[in-house]
Amino acid sequence: MAVRMHHSLTTTFTTFFFFPKSINKTHHIKWFSPSSRRSPTALYCTCSSQDPFVLTTPLYYVNAPPHMGSAYSTIAADAIARFQRLIGKKVIFITGTDEHGEKIATAAAAGGSTPNDHCDAISQSYRALWKDLDISYDKFIRTTDPKHEAIVEEFYSKVLANGDIYRADYEGLYCVNCEEYKDEKELLENNCCPMHLKPCVSRKEDNYFFALSKYQKKLEDILEHNPDFVQPLYRLNEVQNWLKTGLKDFSISRASVDWGIRVPNDPKQTIYVWFDALLGYISALSDDQEQPSLQTAIASGWPASLHLIGKDILRFHAVYWPAMLMSAGMSLPNTVFGHGFLTKDGMKMGKSLGNTLEPNELVQRFGPDAVRYFFLREVEFGNDGDYSEERFINIVNAHLANTIGILFLFVILEYCFYSYLTHYLHVDPFYPSSF
Ligand SMILES: [Zn+2]
Repeated sequence: MAVRMHHSLTTTFTTFFFFPKSINKTHHIKWFSPSSRRSPTALYCTCSSQDPFVLTTPLYYVNAPPHMGSAYSTIAADAIARFQRLIGKKVIFITGTDEHGEKIATAAAAGGSTPNDHCDAISQSYRALWKDLDISYDKFIRTTDPKHEAIVEEFYSKVLANGDIYRADYEGLYCVNCEEYKDEKELLENNCCPMHLKPCVSRKEDNYFFALSKYQKKLEDILEHNPDFVQPLYRLNEVQNWLKTGLKDFSISRASVDWGIRVPNDPKQTIYVWFDALLGYISALSDDQEQPSLQTAIASGWPASLHLIGKDILRFHAVYWPAMLMSAGMSLPNTVFGHGFLTKDGMKMGKSLGNTLEPNELVQRFGPDAVRYFFLREVEFGNDGDYSEERFINIVNAHLANTIGILFLFVILEYCFYSYLTHYLHVDPFYPSSF
């Protein structure tokens, strides 16, 4: 038991270990930008060892109730948050729900409900699942929260003032499920989206664009000089290869979508979901009692130490988001970690395949500790991992039922982890100064 546990869990924990190290490292690194050349200190990351460890899960899209993939991200983030607290860090663990966009309005209409009611219900189902899974989050942000909307508007205005937003006509192939225009080169036969396997539709709109292409060189420099910025290493390679194909400006407003935050000075358009949702990592930091503003939210803990995400949204977090932050003159997060997907019995899960794994059902049947333990142990952190009921039951029986008990098990786990760090990395994980 100890050998196997040593392999998968310590892979996860090694990652926890490296995060404080990367904070120290990036602490002195200058973000490469023309403005930083003019004013060398302007865009320095100002974090210090006293700063809280701020980690985020994705803000989950409320078109449907939580699935096992969302639960997996959150379970992993929770383990990291607990470990950081154990070594004495102040932790701000952020999660929440992303609630705007065409897909949400369509899902609400399909269910005979208003977008507001739909979002309330689904957002609540996420909270309920996190409670059942004993997730120790500190902040839960909803993108329909007025404080979030105020921060998105302020951020948009800053980027606009920096000259990075312009208006243009755009005609192209649009995937409603991705809610983005696609490059024909990346589409499958019959113009199908490679992610959703559904045909994209031709659409023409007058939109506002973000000048992402301006940030090509800066992003290349950041990735080259901050190798910890995207983890694991193979995801960094993925992002660097994508950058090599050349960045294109992207549309950040929708004329045809009503359910969203209005574009400041052009209420006929709404802000593109990603240009809205990513800001949730900052608005979550602002206190409910105070007037929401970027400045106060940033003072409460930005930049984030870690964005933990699924590999499918790597591009938004490792390319779009840092460019947006640089445009607004703000510090970048320390690390974006893209983990893998879950499969079931070796197959991709999907409603159409009829083989989804319902996290609520799993928790009701086996209890939160068994579910958390199985996915942390069985999935090598960063890679794809598989669930099979037989394996799950065997693991639960072998490790949680037939041993002295779960408390004993976690003592063993801590011991394995402690031994690993002290033996292989020559540090004492319980004395943070040795990082
Ligand atoms: Zn798609």
